[in-house]
Amino acid sequence: MHEMQVRYRAQIEEITDACVRLGELGYVASHGGNLSYRVDENAILITPTKVSKRKVSFDDIVIIDLNGKVLFAAKNRKPTGESPFHLRILKKRPDVNAVIHAHPPILTGFSIGNPEALTRPYLPEPIFEVGPVLPVEYAEPLSEELALAFERVLDKGDAFLMKNHGFLMCGREGVARTQEMVEMMENTAYSLFVAISTGEAREISEKDLEDLDRTVKTRELKFPGAPGVVKGLKEMY
Ligand SMILES: [Zn+2]
Repeated sequence: MHEMQVRYRAQIEEITDACVRLGELGYVASHGGNLSYRVDENAILITPTKVSKRKVSFDDIVIIDLNGKVLFAAKNRKPTGESPFHLRILKKRPDVNAVIHAHPPILTGFSIGNPEALTRPYLPEPIFEVGPVLPVEYAEPLSEELALAFERVLDKGDAFLMKNHGFLMCGREGVARTQEMVEMMENTAYSLFVAISTGEAREISEKDLEDLDRTVKTRELKFPGAPGVVKGLKEMY
């Protein structure tokens, strides 16, 4: 094992597990989706290009620096073509340590049919653990336009619905926790879909949102978004 793999062994295992789980859940198909994980000031674990997430193993994970220079890669693996995009997010959001981009089918369905739907408050846990899912204007993958579209909203939240494309989740903790938040939001989208199909999607009241806001403040939880940008849940919804 390379010395960098020894140093970051636990985190490499964590990102490998997240890849396999995303694949098994059907949140990514073929070579779709990509994950990055800041493990040191200038060391980022990133998924390789052209490997199905379900089949990603320990030696497939590439280590790069914040400028995209490869610090370590086994088996001649190359970092995902989306790595400049991940690096822009990690540079612009020093509070974020993990970025997961995937195409969970229900969230992706909303990205086509109703990208604003998940900006509304429906369920307590997603409200204070993740916050609203902010729509990002469509632009071609890997394009400068897509990076610019992201820059307009990146400070205002942690979860993003890329119109006619998929989902992106930023996490301040490890990639395993970020993966759990992706699952929470796909489940939320599923519940919302059932609510719309069977009746009416009713938001929680303004008073209930204020109570949740108070809970976040008393429990000293962080609001989504870059530190200091969002000062309360009410302004988010
Ligand atoms: Zn994608």
